[in-house]
Amino acid sequence: MQASHHGLTIEAVKGDITAQPDCDAIVNAANAQLRTGGGVAGAIHRAAGPELERECVPLAPIRPGQAVITGAHNLPNRHVIHCLGPVYGRDKPEEQLLRDCYQNALRLAEEHGLHSVAFPAISTGVFGYPIEEAAPVAIQSVMDLAPQLSSVQLLRFVLFGQRDLEVHEAALQRLSG
Ligand code: ADP
Repeated sequence: MQASHHGLTIEAVKGDITAQPDCDAIVNAANAQLRTGGGVAGAIHRAAGPELERECVPLAPIRPGQAVITGAHNLPNRHVIHCLGPVYGRDKPEEQLLRDCYQNALRLAEEHGLHSVAFPAISTGVFGYPIEEAAPVAIQSVMDLAPQLSSVQLLRFVLFGQRDLEVHEAALQRLSG
């Protein structure tokens, strides 16, 4: 589904974050060392190839809520924006740190003149943030930043499972009023 907020199109789709060739950037749910791993980080580094990790080394470590940008190497995008989400129950306040991820990633996209960005559901895998809590935080944080965006016109949430998609669709419907 799609919604529009201050000129920003917000989409929620089911899919794989590494298969979004029409987006200028994809966002990595990274670890602090910006290394490959499981989940989204593993999928992105596998698809991008080893040069991505080499580019990441001097940028690491990053803090919860921080975002950094690199090239996309063998991925079909221009950039990868790496965010470190909060570990639920450990990095506090987790809601603010999750907001920071989405907003800092979008600020970087804006600074680089990008038009379209695809996000996974940051922190909702290994980092344990319940998807029902994370989805409205993610959507509200991008809506709050929308008035400050002029380059970024499309934001796509790419959800791995049907239930995750439904949770995001419900939150998007509710928050976009
Ligand atoms: P974190 O460590 O921030 O929790 P994870 O990579 O473990 O990050 O998971 C974040 C979310 O991304 C989870 O909801 C997981 O199901 C989902 N996910 C895992 N692989 C992919 C993928 N290839 N594309 C999109 N989403 C994915």
